[in-house]
Parts: sequence; structure tokens; C-alpha cells
Amino acid sequence: MSEALPLEGRVAAITGASRGIGRATAELLAKRGADVVVGDLLVDEAKETAAEIAKESGRRLDGYLVDVADSESANKFIESAIEDFGKIDILINNAGITRDNLIMRISESDWDAVININLKGAFNCCKAIVRPMMKQRYGRIVNISSVVGLSGNAGQSNYSASKAGLIGLTKSLAQELGSRNITVNAVAPGYITTVLTDVLSEEIKEAAISATPLGRLGSPEDIARAIAFFVSEDAEFITGQVLSVDGGMVMM
Ligand code: NAD
Repeated sequence: MSEALPLEGRVAAITGASRGIGRATAELLAKRGADVVVGDLLVDEAKETAAEIAKESGRRLDGYLVDVADSESANKFIESAIEDFGKIDILINNAGITRDNLIMRISESDWDAVININLKGAFNCCKAIVRPMMKQRYGRIVNISSVVGLSGNAGQSNYSASKAGLIGLTKSLAQELGSRNITVNAVAPGYITTVLTDVLSEEIKEAAISATPLGRLGSPEDIARAIAFFVSEDAEFITGQVLSVDGGMVMM
């Protein structure tokens, strides 16, 4: 008889999962046995991604529309997913955007968009999931921060503030929810090759590589493996932590 996969019987919801880091995470968690709820603002892409991974992995996946910045949409996302899948054991708050500029050129709407999606979006989804997770006395939440949330970065004050805020959210919720067997951790990626970083100039990419002891940019799979660790049994006594996955770029 073949051994059960480590995440068999678990249901994971991932926001911003139609591509990039979210998609790689959906693929890995499904490969390890989880059923996956693929949430994204781009619902057609989310459904397509879910169908492709379902075919590869043999697990149950479906795509859902969610605008994490909107609490009603986040509530509806979590409610429909629980109705369809029966429960959610794992929440990965991954949806995120950048609107990079020097502070003098950041418009109020660009500030608000970054904070509302990156930080309030995670709050909205956590708030929607916490009651059912407390009831089932099990939950694994992973927030996707960034190394610039730890170090700051010129030209990214809005983004860095949102990602630093996620670290405060992570540590506070870890303290609130630990007694209910819910762990809350954060992964802080360095430069990862996705649509988000495609827009950066070759010069910036070269500079990032030379500032990275391991000498390369990261892949979405590098981040997915760290997320998979936090939701695995190996991490059952770990909460409130931030794991940098950045090739050694930022050492705190
Ligand atoms: P990406 O742009 O490829 O994917 C982000 C996904 O989020 C997209 O599918 C997008 O449609 C979705 N999204 C955007 N706004 C949304 C909203 N309001 N509601 C729901 N979904 C929404 O980016 P990525 O590089 O895969 O980034 C994933 C996460 O990792 C982000 O939080 C990002 O800040 C973080 N991160 C990325 C890097 C990097 O170098 N790529 C570094 C550090 C942190």
C-alpha cells in the first residue's frame, strides 16, 4: 500500500493564486495531497490554473473571484469555499501589488491601493477565516511579506510599509490564536522572477543578483517550498515567525 501524502485531507485557500508565487504554492500543496481553493481578482485565470493543477495532481481545485481589498468579497470567497470544500485548514495570504515611486511622486490612490490589497487584504481574509478555524481547532495561516518589509527600500515606501505591517499582523494573530492550534507565520521573499518583477530593468536585476550571496534571483518554487514547510507537521510548534527566502540578500 502506498503511504498517504502529507497534506491529504487538508484544504488550502490561496489568494492571488492564478500565477506566480501563488500558483507555484497551489501546485506544491496539491502535489503533497491538499485540495486547493484558487482565489484571484482574475477569475478566468484562476479557474484555468485550478483546472490545470487538478489535472496534473488528481486533487480537487477550483478557481474563485476575490478582491481581497473588499471585505464583502473576502467574506464571500471564504464562505463559498467552505460551502463547496467543507472546510479550510490552510490560508495563504499571497495577493499583492506594487506601485513603486519616490514618496514625492506616490499618489494617495497608489498608497491606498497598495495598503488596501497587501495589508488590509490579509486582514480581511484572516478575519473571515478565524471563526471557522477556531471552531475546528486547527489552522495554518501564512502571510507573504517581503524582505523589504524588514529592510525598507528606497522607491517602495508604500509597498515596504504594507509588508512590514503584515509582519505585525502575523505576530499579533499568532499570539491571539495559538491556544486554538492555529499557527500564523510569514514568508519574506527576496527578488523572485514573476510578472511582478518582469517590469524591473536589467540593471536592477543585475544589482539584485550581486547583492545576493547565493548569486541568483529566486523562483516561485523557492517560496512555495517555504510556505509548504510552515503548513506541514514539521512546523507544528512554530508560530509568529518570519522566514526570509532571499538567497541571503537581507540578514537581520
Ligand atoms: P504576481 O503579480 O505574479 O501575482 C499576484 C497575484 O495577485 C495576481 O494573480 C493578481 O491578479 C492577484 N491580485 C492582485 N490584486 C488582487 C486583489 N485585490 N484580490 C485578489 N487577487 C489579487 O506576483 P508574485 O510575484 O507572484 O507575488 C505574490 C506575492 O509575493 C505578493 O504578495 C508579492 O508582494 C510577494 N512578493 C513577491 C516578490 C517578487 O519578487 N516577485 C518579492 C517579495 C514578495
